[in-house]
Amino acid sequence: MFQMNRVVDLHCHSRYSDGTLTVGDLIALAKLRGVSLISLTDHDEVSGIVEAREQSAALNLSFVAGVEISSEWRDMSIHIVGLRIDETESTLTSLLSRIRETRSVRAQRMSEAFANVGMPGMLAGAAAYAPNPDLVSRTHFARHLVDSGVCGSMGEVFSRFMKPGKPGYVAHAWVSMQTAIDSIHAAGGRAVLAHPARYETQFLGGPSTLLKSFAEAGGDGVEVVCASHNPPEWAQYAALARRFNLLASIGSDFHSPMESRVKFGDLPRLSPNLKPVWHDWPEAECLYA
Ligand code: AMP
Ligand code: MN
Ligand code: MN
Ligand code: MN
Repeated sequence: MFQMNRVVDLHCHSRYSDGTLTVGDLIALAKLRGVSLISLTDHDEVSGIVEAREQSAALNLSFVAGVEISSEWRDMSIHIVGLRIDETESTLTSLLSRIRETRSVRAQRMSEAFANVGMPGMLAGAAAYAPNPDLVSRTHFARHLVDSGVCGSMGEVFSRFMKPGKPGYVAHAWVSMQTAIDSIHAAGGRAVLAHPARYETQFLGGPSTLLKSFAEAGGDGVEVVCASHNPPEWAQYAALARRFNLLASIGSDFHSPMESRVKFGDLPRLSPNLKPVWHDWPEAECLYA
């Protein structure tokens, strides 16, 4: 199909969640790197959308509003991207406010968990890296631990401290997968399962069980091409998208020029035998021009 030469990126983060760039710099960078259709998908937060829409319009870049909702399936945390949402719709905005409130409690508990292993002051340390005080994530704790010399890399922080079973990790009840999907639909958007290969589904029936449940819950699509996947996984999730009749999406999950695995524009295009999540969006018409 013709859109294959144009770059689509429907998953990235700004300083409103755990990205390091301002919305203005993020959108400008995407434009510079040749992106034609973009969505801003901050974690549990839509405060950057108006600015992102304006900046995209100023640069002649097609934009759809997005969000990445922290949710759970069978006690495992999963991320669901909502695309082409109405970011002002109240079912969605009240759900996101609730999630941000629980994040604040969680950040406090994480800090206590670190204090219990002799690492005090972690909340203040993380907060100094979180420009949005409502949105403190593990990423902010990790940046603090890297910059203060405790760990050599973000990956090291997660594997030593912040994964399930590690000393700085606390279990957290996120909203259900169903609630996240329903609220995205209430806001007129499409629900896309983010970076599916990242989930540890081996004791839960494997990725096909997760994708089947997601489709049965009304989920619309899945990220097939994303930075967390390697080439065999692109093929694996392409096949699963077709099997469960899910639309396919592409997202770099870009967070920072220093930390991200891929740059804007570096991911491959979707294979033409997949139906893109943007297939009927007016904002995607630029791809066919
Ligand atoms: P939270 O939403 O607070 O649980 O934090 C999750 C965020 O941590 C993700 O959105 C990623 O940005 C980041 N993250 C998760 N695992 C890793 C890792 N191994 N290395 C670097 N960043 C990670
Ligand atoms: Mn993140
Ligand atoms: Mn995610
Ligand atoms: Mn993300």
